[in-house]
Amino acid sequence: MTILNGQAISLEFFPPRDEAGRKRLVETANTLKSLNPGYVSVTFGAGGTTRDGTLETVEILSGEGFDTAPHLSCIGSSPDDLRRLLDRYRDMGVRRIVALRGDMPSGMGMMGSQDTLRYAVDLVRLIREHSGDWFHIEVAAYPEMHPQASGPQKDLKHFVDKVNAGADGAITQYFFNADAYFDFVDRAQMKGVTIPIIPGIMPITNYAQLIRFSEMCGAEVPRWIRLRLAEMGDDRESIRAFGVDVVTELCQTLLENQVPGLHFYTLNNAQATQAIWQALTT
Ligand code: FAD
Repeated sequence: MTILNGQAISLEFFPPRDEAGRKRLVETANTLKSLNPGYVSVTFGAGGTTRDGTLETVEILSGEGFDTAPHLSCIGSSPDDLRRLLDRYRDMGVRRIVALRGDMPSGMGMMGSQDTLRYAVDLVRLIREHSGDWFHIEVAAYPEMHPQASGPQKDLKHFVDKVNAGADGAITQYFFNADAYFDFVDRAQMKGVTIPIIPGIMPITNYAQLIRFSEMCGAEVPRWIRLRLAEMGDDRESIRAFGVDVVTELCQTLLENQVPGLHFYTLNNAQATQAIWQALTT
């Protein structure tokens, strides 16, 4: 069954740490070219990786022919550093940025030094002030609420502020309950938001990692999924097969309901994303 109807696919990678990782990333990205992604994105600062790692990975993937979007987080960087980086990306021909607040490493407090922007909305404003309309700006959205928000309505207001500051599109935190996404989109549209809100899709491949990530980012792993995965223990093949079934079904529901696209968190691994794609398109 082919249910894709002009819906845009994008893929997210993180900067590899060494030469072997770089080689694997290029192989993974080229394997996933079969999904015909509109663009690929590269995370920033996540998991201890550096800004230089993002820049270098953008160069590598652009060299492989991908339209590549760096993630850029404002926390911990001075506005001047951010402007310099934007100039560098512009010189490289980059046209899309995923603009985020980011998180301070634990123990450093939330706000970092005085000379830093506090929220992603400030970064969106800085990009527009500095670079006009050169960059297409994506921002983050949280159907199940950002874990530091004081409530869903407040969080939605902060999301709408990012849109009004000039975001062109949004990518959501991952979720396994499609209703959370539809409810968020409905509420955003009622506030006048018209930009595409693309669901972020997390393949399930590793139980412990999924639980750890989800606790950090506030994504809910439904009880029935947790129980099934816990029971599978170290049986990686069963986890993989179950994960593909669950996430394919989620994608099917989303696509049938005319979502504007899907953004896959590939974790630099082609297998799971490719298996979901094959299940969706055959
Ligand atoms: P914001 O939109 O600034 O929101 C952060 C919190 O502050 C929310 O709780 C919001 O409600 C609140 N808030 C916003 N404005 C105000 C205000 N004016 N007053 C009071 N409260 C306010 N992290 C990385 O480190 N690197 C990455 O590459 C990366 N990529 C990501 C990609 C996607 C698609 C997503 C969904 C997340 C990504 N993250 C990444 C994680 C992200 O950096 C964290 O979730 C971070 O905690 C919040 O970033 P944000 O851009 O959503 O922040």
